[in-house]
Amino acid sequence: MAKQGTKIGFENGKLVVPDDPIIPFIEGDGTGPDIWRASVMVFDAAVDKVYKGKKKIFWKEIYAGEKAFKKFNTWLPDETLKAVEEHIVGIKGPLTTPVGGGIRSLNVTLRQKLNLFACVRPVKYIPSVPSPVKHPEKMNVIIFRENTEDVYSGIEWAQGTPEATKVIKFLKEEMGAKMRDDAGVGIKPISITGTKQLMRMAIKYALDKKRKSVTIDHKGNIMKYTEGAFREWAYQVAKEEFRDKIVTEDEIEKEYNGKAPAGKLIVKDRIADNMFQQVLTRADEYDIIVTPNLNGDYLSDACAAQIGGLGMAPGGNIGIPYAMFEATHGTAPKYAGQDKVNPGSVILSGAMMFEYLGWDPVSEVIKESLGATIKQKRVTYDLERQMEGAKLLKSSEFGKAIVENMDGVIKKLKI
Ligand code: NAP
Repeated sequence: MAKQGTKIGFENGKLVVPDDPIIPFIEGDGTGPDIWRASVMVFDAAVDKVYKGKKKIFWKEIYAGEKAFKKFNTWLPDETLKAVEEHIVGIKGPLTTPVGGGIRSLNVTLRQKLNLFACVRPVKYIPSVPSPVKHPEKMNVIIFRENTEDVYSGIEWAQGTPEATKVIKFLKEEMGAKMRDDAGVGIKPISITGTKQLMRMAIKYALDKKRKSVTIDHKGNIMKYTEGAFREWAYQVAKEEFRDKIVTEDEIEKEYNGKAPAGKLIVKDRIADNMFQQVLTRADEYDIIVTPNLNGDYLSDACAAQIGGLGMAPGGNIGIPYAMFEATHGTAPKYAGQDKVNPGSVILSGAMMFEYLGWDPVSEVIKESLGATIKQKRVTYDLERQMEGAKLLKSSEFGKAIVENMDGVIKKLKI
């Protein structure tokens, strides 16, 4: 528990980060505690080595999932949500989603209650990680996936219930829809608000980090008023709010003879099925990708698998002002308590969090040191079984190995 520290603030649309921020964390279920122990060791060491005592995180444990249920008889205590609201930025391990029993996914609930409208997933190759493709190094994208709408909104009725029957009757009789009477029904809302706030965040990020392009990924040829509208509204944000900083692919063809003018962020769009094959065949043509919820769910994992990093893919659920960084894999319950699994996903999510806090050197040191450790073939079981001549480490040993590499990385990066 945090004994001291200062709360992060949010003023004029910007985070105000003290030198001693309190950061709430959820350890997570299953392998979560093993992973968290290894990760927090890496985070504290990186901050200490970079800032030499001038900055320090005060971690505050908050509860969700099985630990919350055991302690407070509820899967997601109100205090947990309040703590994130109070401290603004948090980090979490994986949480069990109880199957059946009317309990919704805790992750989905957290995202919706805190309006964490963007799920941000960077996918970049770490050299030496075994990959199923020939050129995994060509992939370097950041996916901004809408996080609160689409078929994930939870507006659905089971087949045969009075509600489903009533909705089907309404749709057929009053709206002229053709559908079978024995269908289950789900609703797919995609709004101007949801789309525009996501696109705005993605473009701001792309401009801030001097990225090359933003691609709107959608299935608008089929779902015209949801995914098609997503495309339209996303382009509106680009053209109306960032006109002097962007150029669309269409404009490049029509007005610039096919050659993009220097210094402009390129905005383009791709239909989702094409997007899937493009990230496989022409990965280096994509940079920032903005997508509705369901497409983004599939695409994030497909891209992460391509670089061999599904078990290490980091993620952040970000809104305004709250943000929660998280492991993208599940709780891997069969390995719980064995100090065995790869803590890379939470460690790299932490690196994202430090970048979000503006502590970029800490983020760089964590990413580089993790990369160096993998290059030395000192890895956990998941990578060891795929890498010839690798040394098998426990989760905690992997964390320690990363810390051992930090001094060398700091010297190399001249931090
Ligand atoms: P999972 O926990 O991701 O595990 C599936 C397999 O992925 C594991 O058996 C393991 O494969 C590999 N794996 C996962 N994490 C790993 C790590 N850190 N290091 C190395 N390998 C790792 O998926 P699941 O079994 O479908 O789900 C279990 C629970 O997690 C469910 O309750 C689910 O709802 C929940 N879940 C939570 C989140 C979240 O909190 N964000 C996300 C997804 C699922 P091998 O056995 O082949 O080594």
